Amino acid sequence: MFLEPHFKGQRSGWIEVICGSMFSGKTEELIRRLKRAKIANQKVEIFKPKIDTRYDSVKVVSHDDNSILSTPVDHSSKLLDLSDGVGVVGVDEAQFFDNELPDVCQQLALRGIRVIAAGLDMDYKGIPFGPMPDLLAVAEYITKVHAICSHCGNLATHSFRLAADAGQVLLGEKDTYEARCRTCYHMGNILNLKVNAALTKTNGQEKKK
Ligand SMILES: [Zn+2]
Repeated sequence: MFLEPHFKGQRSGWIEVICGSMFSGKTEELIRRLKRAKIANQKVEIFKPKIDTRYDSVKVVSHDDNSILSTPVDHSSKLLDLSDGVGVVGVDEAQFFDNELPDVCQQLALRGIRVIAAGLDMDYKGIPFGPMPDLLAVAEYITKVHAICSHCGNLATHSFRLAADAGQVLLGEKDTYEARCRTCYHMGNILNLKVNAALTKTNGQEKKK
């Protein structure tokens, strides 16, 4: 578990990144850190890109419904205007932000702000997602969280898209994506065909009884 650093004397800002595949608990971990800062009476602001409208326009919502209020913004530069007097800045769905996000986070950290960003490290093709690689490079602390592979139960690092849509951004959940380990991810749809075949076989046997 991530433990906040201790500071003696002047406190400076820093950047934390929480990354991983879908269903890996990134947002839950972001919320955990932000809530603890709130309890300690630190001023916390949370931002998310306007693109993410899955659940609620003003809340960072994780899959377990443990939510926290946030401000949707259309560009990362808005974070600089909206973070005056703030001690901790949270960024959810960081992968959907523009490429200026890493620079913006660095400017916030220089102001003495603790920045915590959560995002997908790879898209469904396994390619580093948006500003995430640069953000990871400039961060002081990185936490890679893992999901559980839907097929073999190993730790999952990849988000496999079940739908045929080829765009990089396709918002959705369990019916659109599944978490997979490296091996199962590279088996692609063959794995789904095998699962379907096994299900058909099982159903057939049940009918015979
Ligand atoms: Zn697997």
